[in-house]
Amino acid sequence: MSLPDIGIGTWQNAEPDTCVESVQTALEMGYRHVDTAQAYGNEAAVGEGIATADVPREEIVLATKIHPEETGVAYDEVLEATQDSLDRLGVDTIDLLYVHWPTGNYDAEETLPAFDELVDRGAIDHVGVSNFDVDLLDEAREHLDADLFAHQVEMHPFLQQADLLEHAQTHEYDLVAYSPLARGRVLEHPEIESIADKHGVSEAQVSLAWLLSKDRVRVIPKATSEAHIRDNFEALDLELDPEDVAAIDAIDRSERFVERAGAPWLA
Ligand code: NAP
Repeated sequence: MSLPDIGIGTWQNAEPDTCVESVQTALEMGYRHVDTAQAYGNEAAVGEGIATADVPREEIVLATKIHPEETGVAYDEVLEATQDSLDRLGVDTIDLLYVHWPTGNYDAEETLPAFDELVDRGAIDHVGVSNFDVDLLDEAREHLDADLFAHQVEMHPFLQQADLLEHAQTHEYDLVAYSPLARGRVLEHPEIESIADKHGVSEAQVSLAWLLSKDRVRVIPKATSEAHIRDNFEALDLELDPEDVAAIDAIDRSERFVERAGAPWLA
């Protein structure tokens, strides 16, 4: 299995009918990756969207995340929380299960063997981590028998994550860019606006195409309306000119829009 270039994000898409509909719409449009988390409170709706869509389950990469501060991530807590996710999602297997944050009782030696056990049992296919730094990634790779499949982090033109990108490319796992539209802020940037005008596309598409111009990067924009879901999907058809990529490379200002106490970058 490889991770599709684009997936549908679902954070803050917790109203069940809207969530079912946006997941179904995305899948029927051609998306093949759905990103949720226990903490989003929408696993049941995401599962319903997948069940309702006219797309075979085996074509879909379904990703969810276990949150150290909600269920805990000690060995038995991981096994139990994953079973709860499987039940809520209404599926037999989770394609990609992440450690949501390296916070709370996360401990590589205690937590990650439970992920290996879940792979052995066939409850999950692949292991991911989220919001790690390079040291935590190296430690995780040491403690996992399974290959690290994906690292999910905030990434967009204002936060370009050069060290994490290089680590993903060197160790051959995917870097999944969350908040790839900087939660909407990319829509108002003059440089991005002028590149969008030049190509006759939206600013959102420019941000997504810039991310996808980087080897190993995948994107998971969140969108609820059909118009936004389609606009983002059409970014797959946009190829930026090298000078566009260089101009956006120069925008980086290490600016984050998602924070959490205990995050590694705050240490
Ligand atoms: P985002 O995708 O950067 O931005 C979402 C916002 O942009 C929403 O307000 C959405 O509006 C709007 N939007 C979407 N497409 C648009 C378009 N084509 N034109 C104009 N506006 C558009 O932010 P995000 O939700 O923070 O990140 C995406 C996903 O990453 C999340 O949903 C979640 O799955 C994941 N994530 C993971 C973590 C983590 O800790 N691992 C943290 C944050 C996010 P509408 O909803 O109205 O369409």
